[in-house]
Amino acid sequence: MSVVTDGRGLVEIHNVHKSFHGVEVLKGIDLTVHPGEVVALLGPSGSGKSTLLRTINHLESVDAGSVTVDGEFIGYELRHGKLHELHEREILQRRTRVGIVFQNFHLFPHLTALENVTEAPVALKRLSKDNARELALGLLDRVGLSDKADAYPRQLSGGQQQRVAIARALALKPQVLLFDEPTSALDPELVGEVLDVIRDLAKLGTTLVIVTHEIGFAREVADRVVFLDQGRVIEQGTPQEVLERPRHARTREFLAKVL
Ligand code: ADP
Ligand code: MG
Repeated sequence: MSVVTDGRGLVEIHNVHKSFHGVEVLKGIDLTVHPGEVVALLGPSGSGKSTLLRTINHLESVDAGSVTVDGEFIGYELRHGKLHELHEREILQRRTRVGIVFQNFHLFPHLTALENVTEAPVALKRLSKDNARELALGLLDRVGLSDKADAYPRQLSGGQQQRVAIARALALKPQVLLFDEPTSALDPELVGEVLDVIRDLAKLGTTLVIVTHEIGFAREVADRVVFLDQGRVIEQGTPQEVLERPRHARTREFLAKVL
């Protein structure tokens, strides 16, 4: 496995390849995300967006190439110039640098909103129960849910559940936060409240990588738009460049369908 990192990006993805059952779905991806940058990842269904996102916190391993966050490999360590997969416990520790929010919230159904947010910092022995509670109440307040701390996921709307999921992801103070179609499972009237929270994070300078079909939102919050098709980065640039003056036919086709 080749290892290349120049240390400039917070997230550096170099020549990443990934196959499932002999079918290559990532075909040599290069992507650098700088500290404080908001990157919107667009592309047709099946183009590899989720797989790429999942390699950033080692929910997927890579077959070739490398992924580093703040100069460190998330799932691997370098020994004698070669990458070796880390032990599960170490993977879990390093993974906390990268928060992820999924389309379908993935909250723990048997835990309250507050408990969903305190679970990881307590389980990883980062904070005492009292300190985790204090942090979680602050985060729930930040996503506009201080009155829902004791509610269970089933008692919350999809938009509220997704905001709890964002608070939960923030509880480990990740260096970068990944969103995989965070509003795709929501009724249209609930999309805005989740986008508002993400917009606030962007304003605060949080480093974000967002897979979304909300083109208007991408145009508004993203510093850079990256268009993926069939496992390759086809083009990238400012929202104006990619969304208003796309250079590639495949980007234009995609935009014509979603706009
Ligand atoms: P996107 O998020 O852009 O829709 P994905 O990254 O989910 O695309 O999927 C890219 C391709 O990889 C698809 O063809 C999908 O079926 C395949 N794929 C994704 N995950 C798996 C998996 N765990 N096993 C087998 N195939 C997978
Ligand atoms: Mg996907």
